[in-house]
Amino acid sequence: MTQLYLVPTPIGNLEDITLRAIRVLKEVDVILAEDTRTSGNLLRHLGISKPMTAFHLNNEHQQVSHIADRIEAGETMALVTDAGTPAISDPGYMLVRECINRGLQVECLPGPTAFVPALVNSGLPAERFIFEGFLPHKKGRQTKIQQMASYPYTTILYESPYRLVKTLQQLQEVMGPDRRVSVARELTKIHEENVRGTLAEVIQYFSQKDVKGEIVIVIESGERNPEALNETK
Ligand code: SAM
Repeated sequence: MTQLYLVPTPIGNLEDITLRAIRVLKEVDVILAEDTRTSGNLLRHLGISKPMTAFHLNNEHQQVSHIADRIEAGETMALVTDAGTPAISDPGYMLVRECINRGLQVECLPGPTAFVPALVNSGLPAERFIFEGFLPHKKGRQTKIQQMASYPYTTILYESPYRLVKTLQQLQEVMGPDRRVSVARELTKIHEENVRGTLAEVIQYFSQKDVKGEIVIVIESGERNPEALNETK
């Protein structure tokens, strides 16, 4: 029997939660939440009242063995984050590793995550891709961008709206103005947009705006796919 569930939650549209996710959240003894206030709102919306324990990246390290002890002692738990799938640029990985090491049963439910719709909406090849999550802010950033320039697969980044234009400009410096990209903004929300084009075109589009909301950048492979050349915005 599963002892720790990782439960994906909506990345915007509250309809994007599975029936199984709702059942699991109702059945477990405790919900581990990245932010108990954010998850409290979701649980209220779903009509679920359940004890919650905070579990976030700042204390993930300290909490892991304590939580695993509790699971070992018989409590069933579900880990949720503010949005999307736990452990994807979010807390969860260390707890999963610890539970596996102790022989506890772990199960991640399938569900919302931002990079999959961003990739599919991009129209760039999706059979193989590299997910880089957030770029390092300072140390290693330039080296990573240099590496990414020759990745042979479509590459996906998470980015904050405040850094979007600067990051696209840094990508352009290394990859050139003609590399195709797609920027997914506010996926599943009212103001969702997917802006597709060359780096030069997409930079021009976002430079004229006060960029808000959540962002995924999808970048064409460094080995140019001839089919991708014909794609239009
Ligand atoms: N665990 C989440 C997942 O499964 O996608 C990711 C959590 S990470 C802390 C948050 C980042 O995910 C945001 O900064 C943004 O890059 C991306 N993201 C989350 N929701 C999004 C949305 N609705 N539209 C676009 N990007 C989103």
